[in-house]
Amino acid sequence: MAAELEGACHCGAVSVALRLSGPPSATALRACQCSFCRRHGAKTLADPEGMLTIRAEPGTVRRYRFGLKTADFLLCEGCGCYIAAIAEAGGEQRATLNVAGVGLPEFSGREAQPVSYDDEDTADRMGRRMRNWMPVEVLERRHAVAV
Ligand SMILES: [Zn+2]
Repeated sequence: MAAELEGACHCGAVSVALRLSGPPSATALRACQCSFCRRHGAKTLADPEGMLTIRAEPGTVRRYRFGLKTADFLLCEGCGCYIAAIAEAGGEQRATLNVAGVGLPEFSGREAQPVSYDDEDTADRMGRRMRNWMPVEVLERRHAVAV
């Protein structure tokens, strides 16, 4: 059964809506062992059949690149939480979500499987992301203000 989940960074400036093709309990969590993800204690998931929507006020998302520089790592400008990584190929964007950074209660306390991608070259890495990561849209706009 599909699931709709919502989360946000620590300060709330960046929120996410996650649609999973199956229940959270059947969705694997990964703990990437790169130096960036370890520092953030990242636990990530991606559902190629699902959908991720990231909503942010303008100027609240910082994009960081390192290593092969083939993905943007999205951080909240205000609180520093690592939200998600986004890669683009052939005009298509795919993302992996850090459930630890957006505090999804459905995954709290869940173990994540350690993974290492050190041996990949750029082509391997982009191929894996396009296969395994999930469709994403990033909406940067002001929230409606009630008058
Ligand atoms: Zn924040």
